[in-house]
Amino acid sequence: VPVAAEEKPVVFRSKLPDIQINNSQSLHTYCFGKMAEVADRPCLIDGQTGASYTYAEVESLSRRAASGLRRMGVGKGDVVMNLLRNCPEFAFSFLGAAMLGAATTTANPFYTPHEIHRQAEAAGAKLIVTEACAVEKVREFAAERGVPVVTVDGKFDGCVEFGEVLAAEELEADANIHPDDVVALPYSSGTTGLPKGVMLTHRSLITSVAQQVDGENPNLYFSKEDVVLCLLPLFHIYSLNSVLLAGLRAGCTIVIMRKFDLGVLVDLVHKHNITIAPFVPPIVVEIAKSPRVTADDLASIRMVMSGAAPMGKELQDAFMAKIPNAVLGQGYGMTEAGPVLAMCLAFAKEPFQVKSGSCGTVVRNAELKIVDPDTGAALGRDQPGEICIRGEQIMKGYLNDPESTKNTIDADGWLHTGDIGYVDDDDEIFIVDRLKEIIKYKGFQVPPAELEALLITHPEIKDAAVVSMKDDLAGEIPVAFIVRTEGSELTEDAIKQFVAKEVVFYKKIHKVFFTDSIPKNPSGKILRKDLRARLAAGIH
Ligand code: ATP
Ligand code: MG
Repeated sequence: VPVAAEEKPVVFRSKLPDIQINNSQSLHTYCFGKMAEVADRPCLIDGQTGASYTYAEVESLSRRAASGLRRMGVGKGDVVMNLLRNCPEFAFSFLGAAMLGAATTTANPFYTPHEIHRQAEAAGAKLIVTEACAVEKVREFAAERGVPVVTVDGKFDGCVEFGEVLAAEELEADANIHPDDVVALPYSSGTTGLPKGVMLTHRSLITSVAQQVDGENPNLYFSKEDVVLCLLPLFHIYSLNSVLLAGLRAGCTIVIMRKFDLGVLVDLVHKHNITIAPFVPPIVVEIAKSPRVTADDLASIRMVMSGAAPMGKELQDAFMAKIPNAVLGQGYGMTEAGPVLAMCLAFAKEPFQVKSGSCGTVVRNAELKIVDPDTGAALGRDQPGEICIRGEQIMKGYLNDPESTKNTIDADGWLHTGDIGYVDDDDEIFIVDRLKEIIKYKGFQVPPAELEALLITHPEIKDAAVVSMKDDLAGEIPVAFIVRTEGSELTEDAIKQFVAKEVVFYKKIHKVFFTDSIPKNPSGKILRKDLRARLAAGIH
């Protein structure tokens, strides 16, 4: 029997050449690397209050936050919890903690007390920085464990005001920081299960930011003339990395918005001449479908980035018609991957032609491969399989969970994403769906994301989610939850026919449930597990 020549795995790389990345410094030093050029330029603007801070001021305030935090007992190796909506203090606290060699774990202040305690406990938070809406949620927990609570928006019994933390002298010397020290401890979004604590180091975050905004031809071209909208929550790694840290590194002005509101968004775009808008698909859908927002309203925007969840070609095309002067593209991230795996090359300083619906090309200084989830064999172009990534940007591991770490990062350093996708002839990546979400109808594979993308193109469908439902005959059948536009009387049959016309027989929708809203987490992901639970409980 002839021995088959051992095939070299197909490894995909960026079209941009690798660059030199100095990732053995500390993250804040790297982010403030252009200080000499940008010291007096606006760095952070609080969209709500109008308060503006220059680069020099942001660095100085972060140094003061560092001493203030140290005075309250935070030191090297400790963890500070930022339980905050977007605000300038988020940045001061994060950077201040980094200077001390401490890490920041971030969480949503609208989580339940139980969810907050679980994360604070698991992360070993030594101090909590929060705001009015969450003070009561942490009070008991903090008192029991002697964890000080700092508030950014007022005085509360037993808490310290952030202003007092800032009243300290600037920290003179940084802690002795090793590149492999953890600086951020974000939690995954909890779309498929409980959120997982992810250890990101100075080295990994510097690498990730550099892969996006550094080099002569940056993949994600941010310049110091750019004004970036920081609307996505900083407690999610997408915004922390690709908006705050990338914006700082490039010397941009970052306009902070606390929560999503279309009217406020349009006002801020006008007022600050926003040029870059990082979004998630639900925001893209809302803008694309809103008659209230016109091309004029968004005229200053030159780049719209979408990420964190799937955006189909149809939606991307509809949105582009609305903002003809901007480039719209996607990034693909996963908390564990540092988080950016791929970025649209139309965002490069010297842009490439790209296709609608693609989630970008693997970032530079990294390797990507597609493997057969059953055999582990590397696949070639146009063949869907599990996306794997390797490079210095990926996580150090899950917090206190070497077992899960071993199951995610293999012995050769490849991080397995659990996402199914393929790479086309132009090195563009297309995500099919998560491995766990693919519906198996009589053995045929049905990716719900594809059906959702089709459903929302219907003019009378405001939002849609597709999940599997148990079925005796077929094993699983695809069913849809639909939010109709106001006044619409669209029927179940009409929806089924609309889909049936466009898809192969096994991808047909078998049942439709009308609902008022689709459950999503703040990073814009459909909580299909919640919908499946509703089905299982017989509540539609
Ligand atoms: P958990 O791991 O806790 O279940 P999560 O995977 O949603 O939650 P994140 O790390 O925030 O938590 O999200 C990463 C996932 O988001 C990716 O694995 C992928 O499924 C999805 N994703 C990110 N960007 C895109 C994109 N551009 N298109 C499609 N899916 C995307
Ligand atoms: Mg995940």
